[in-house]
Amino acid sequence: MILERGEVANSWRHERWDSLRLLTPNWQCRLPGIRYQGPDPDGYMTMGEVVDMIERFAAPARAVVRTGTNVTAVRRTDEGYNVFTTHGAISCPTVVIASGACNRPTVPGLGQTVPPDVEQVTTFGYRDPSQLPEGGVLVVGASATGVQLAAELRRSGRPVTLSVGEHVRLPRTYRGRDVLWWMDAAGVWDQRYDELEDLVRARRLPSPQLVGTPDRTTLDLNALAAIGVEFVGRWAMVRGGTALFSGGLRNVCSLADLKMDRLLGLFDEWAETERIDGELDGPERYAPTQVPKAARLQLDLRAGEIQSIVWATGFAPDYRWLDVPVVDDKGRLRHDGGVVDSPGLYALGLPVLRRRRSTFICGIEDDARDVIDHLAGYLGVGSQLRVGSAATQP
Ligand SMILES: Cc1cc2nc3c(=O)[nH]c(=O)nc-3n(C[C@H](O)[C@H](O)[C@H](O)COP(=O)(O)OP(=O)(O)OC[C@H]3O[C@@H](n4cnc5c(N)ncnc54)[C@H](O)[C@@H]3O)c2cc1C
Repeated sequence: MILERGEVANSWRHERWDSLRLLTPNWQCRLPGIRYQGPDPDGYMTMGEVVDMIERFAAPARAVVRTGTNVTAVRRTDEGYNVFTTHGAISCPTVVIASGACNRPTVPGLGQTVPPDVEQVTTFGYRDPSQLPEGGVLVVGASATGVQLAAELRRSGRPVTLSVGEHVRLPRTYRGRDVLWWMDAAGVWDQRYDELEDLVRARRLPSPQLVGTPDRTTLDLNALAAIGVEFVGRWAMVRGGTALFSGGLRNVCSLADLKMDRLLGLFDEWAETERIDGELDGPERYAPTQVPKAARLQLDLRAGEIQSIVWATGFAPDYRWLDVPVVDDKGRLRHDGGVVDSPGLYALGLPVLRRRRSTFICGIEDDARDVIDHLAGYLGVGSQLRVGSAATQP
């Protein structure tokens, strides 16, 4: 039984901004039994198309889905768990937590020290530029969300300042192929969680500076500078109404350039080993990030230059309803590849749950198979459940 507080595909319907398209290409967005079969495999789905895909999956899966049912508490019992919902309680031997990794925006405490005249919005509240007041916008965070919103706001005619911390720079296409094709083909996404040197870091890695647009454009800091976005360093504090930024902008940009070059080098080596060089365009390297010589270190938030702030500083899961002591002091679920630190409790849909690809829609299929195998073993009904899951395979 699936309990959903909203509708099927709720997060894609209600928690995303209007212009968002997936950053994974259509051919890569797979669910068990569902593959993209339209005319544009290299394109990127709109939110409406994602909702459609998930609905198409939900219908034949024939699972019992109780929508409009908010889970308000889960408590351990001798037999398993009691799940309390807005429509009554349910007892069950096992629970799979699939409530998402991005239930709420993370906004640093700085937000509370911003002068009240400056409007603040998070990516959950943001829909399109028209909802912000005219005038300058400070976008905080330069990962996928931040660069996309900075570009959209700049194109709406507003002066945009982007506060840039650690980020992952990637070209949209490399040697004629989508950069995510390279990750897939070269096996980067198949790297397992128990083989990674620093799993905690891998799970916290910022999303790459990518956007899914019909023209497959690259949206790195150089592209933003070309349309007039100004950069400042990581936002450190507010003193007397003035925002103070780190002086480390050049360093974080150099690091991102270096890591991108290293990754492209790995792709080139892989292409050579696989002897597919001839099918691809030649290797290339991109201009280093053009960091302004004298990036501003402070901005007076009372002077009227900045009318609004958009927080693009990431997302976090929300486990306030989980009354089982399996969440650490940083709000992270304690689990080993989706097997949570409490018998019969499981998780799916978290970053690098079992593989690097777990972060994406296409990661669910393999993860679900592994996690449900474990769950079936726990219940002692392995073969029955495995037959059931095999029936949904393509
Ligand atoms: C801005 C953004 C862009 C992304 N872009 C891509 C992309 O381009 N490609 C890609 O593959 N992936 C992308 N992802 C990742 C993608 O969202 C996840 O891989 C995928 O949504 C995980 O699915 P899920 O069902 O586990 O979680 P979710 O889609 O978050 O679904 C969780 C569901 O649980 C429900 N829920 C939560 N709490 C409760 C409760 N207490 N009671 C009842 N129901 C509850 C929510 O309403 C929600 O419907 C993106 C994520 C974000 C935030």
